[in-house]
Amino acid sequence: MRILLVEDDPLLAAQVGAALAEAGHVVEQADNGRDALYLGEETPFDAVVLDLGLPGIDGLTVLGRWRAGGRTMPVLILTARDNWHEKVAGIDAGADDYLTKPFHMEELLARLRALIRRAHGHASDAIACGPLLLDSRAQRISLAGRTLALTSHEYRLLAYLMHHPGQVLSRQELTEHLYAQDFERDSNTIEVFIARLRKKLPAELIETVRGLGYRLVGPP
Ligand code: CA
Repeated sequence: MRILLVEDDPLLAAQVGAALAEAGHVVEQADNGRDALYLGEETPFDAVVLDLGLPGIDGLTVLGRWRAGGRTMPVLILTARDNWHEKVAGIDAGADDYLTKPFHMEELLARLRALIRRAHGHASDAIACGPLLLDSRAQRISLAGRTLALTSHEYRLLAYLMHHPGQVLSRQELTEHLYAQDFERDSNTIEVFIARLRKKLPAELIETVRGLGYRLVGPP
């Protein structure tokens, strides 16, 4: 998943960024409200972690402008301790959840998983798709009960497809959600990883839709 992390405290930003990457996410970071506003308007993110106290434009204003502009990605806000009215204002501005600083990294990751799941209409940590079962908490995918041996790129790609069963996903969309580095971001990369996944899965599970992209065959 592609996550936007907005935090101006460099130490906290580095810690959260590392934890998100470790959890298999692609992370983009902003340390001020202006960059955050721009990134959130221009780039499709699967979720955002947004500190409210930011230089430039404050987090509440950023969030309000995203929502006013029709951006619906799930947003988890980070608020200062004992500042209850900040939480209320954040939720009023369109936040989906909040965390009070200081927090445990495990809690942040769990809340993000829950937000991403809810955004896709799933109620539990596990997502089933035909013979495939995704456990996003353990970062594991099994086929008919057997855990697949996947590289991190293969895992991210297949997990993303499983969050959108039956939908045609273009190479560009897949690239945007799965790769952080420009050198990884050409559409041939996706073809290579799809080919590798097909060797590990029943061949008919991932369909090529000519000229449009790929589709994970959903339940009938
Ligand atoms: Ca701050």
